[in-house]
Amino acid sequence: MNSPFVLDTKTIQYYIGNGALEKSAKLFSDYSSVYVLMDENVEKYCLDLFLKSVPGLKVRGFIKIPAGESSKSIEHAVHIWQSLTNLGAGRDSLLINLGGGVVSDIGGFCAGTYKRGMPFINVPTTLLSQIDAAIGGKTGIDFDSLKNQVGLFIDSKAVITDPVFLKTLKPEYWQSGFAEVTKHALIMDRELWKILGHRSYKEVEEWNDIIIRSAKDKIDIVRYDKGERNVRKILNFGHTVGHAIESHFLKSDKPITHGQAVAAGMICEAWISAHIEQLECNNVGEITERIDLSFQRLNISEKDIPELMQLMRQDKKIRNGEFKFSLLRRLGKAVHDVVVEPELIEDSIRFYINNKKCE
Ligand code: NAD
Ligand code: ZN
Repeated sequence: MNSPFVLDTKTIQYYIGNGALEKSAKLFSDYSSVYVLMDENVEKYCLDLFLKSVPGLKVRGFIKIPAGESSKSIEHAVHIWQSLTNLGAGRDSLLINLGGGVVSDIGGFCAGTYKRGMPFINVPTTLLSQIDAAIGGKTGIDFDSLKNQVGLFIDSKAVITDPVFLKTLKPEYWQSGFAEVTKHALIMDRELWKILGHRSYKEVEEWNDIIIRSAKDKIDIVRYDKGERNVRKILNFGHTVGHAIESHFLKSDKPITHGQAVAAGMICEAWISAHIEQLECNNVGEITERIDLSFQRLNISEKDIPELMQLMRQDKKIRNGEFKFSLLRRLGKAVHDVVVEPELIEDSIRFYINNKKCE
């Protein structure tokens, strides 16, 4: 099947699914000079494929950063601004962010600030960036050991999402993206929950429809609430406890992927949902079983709970000392800004640690 989903919102053009690269190739002819930002793995695995799919694209310069989260830094932002300057990029040039979430985050930030803003197009190449990071206008870099501390809300001109890139993706990055796919199903897309079924990410054979659905879910949300004033907050489901777990492991010498942390966070927050929202315990059982098919339980113990609670208190989402969560009202429906007592959060972590049954 080679007909991608196409959506023109007047400000952003989306091409998503098999054949997206070919179908969108004409977009690039609007720009007199084009620059491509990528990391070293993307250069190795995706660049040729991209250039072949867009014949006639005249790239004035390639800008490279090392692979990994540590490239989302002010030093690499300086490298990108400097390269754009040296290569003679103007405000009417185009930056193509070819890569995963690291590339689209720092690339969008640098394009948005270069000469007060040059246009950019995201061409995401990881599952996570295809269904999440490349959509929604959040860009930025990490600063002072804090994730996404400096950045901008700024829209790309287009997002071109072609699953063809994913063939070379490492298993841990399939897994990490799958956590966010699962989240989209749980918070707003019961049909996607059905399609995902009772199987691990390794057993999914056909990704095209799943990627289209999951990316559309995110587009729907950010179209209504780009600035995260209300409904966009539901995307934080699993991320309050999840971020604390991610930071906890970041401090140890065994960092985990964002997806592994969110998977654990979703188990805890599903349990909380059953205790203060209307989610049923048998749904918590189903969610837990499915997540366990794709993600091993993390090594967390009772003695880690105080530190996790402390980390949660430092979270950007915590206001006036109150823990406000996005929770599930039922499968496929989330609500935001639900105040949760600390004791309940601690118990949800115990539920995760002891692999208990929800009752
Ligand atoms: P990533 O960009 O680091 O990519 C993961 C790894 O895969 C890297 O080593 C990369 O070089 C490699 N890679 C990329 N494409 C490949 C391909 N096709 N084949 C083989 N290897 C490939 O990480 P990610 O998981 O894509 O994104 C994580 C980042 O996204 C984090 O910095 C996170 O904060 C950010 N993020 C942003 C948003 C947002 O709304 N802006 C949302 C979610 C996550
Ligand atoms: Zn996430």
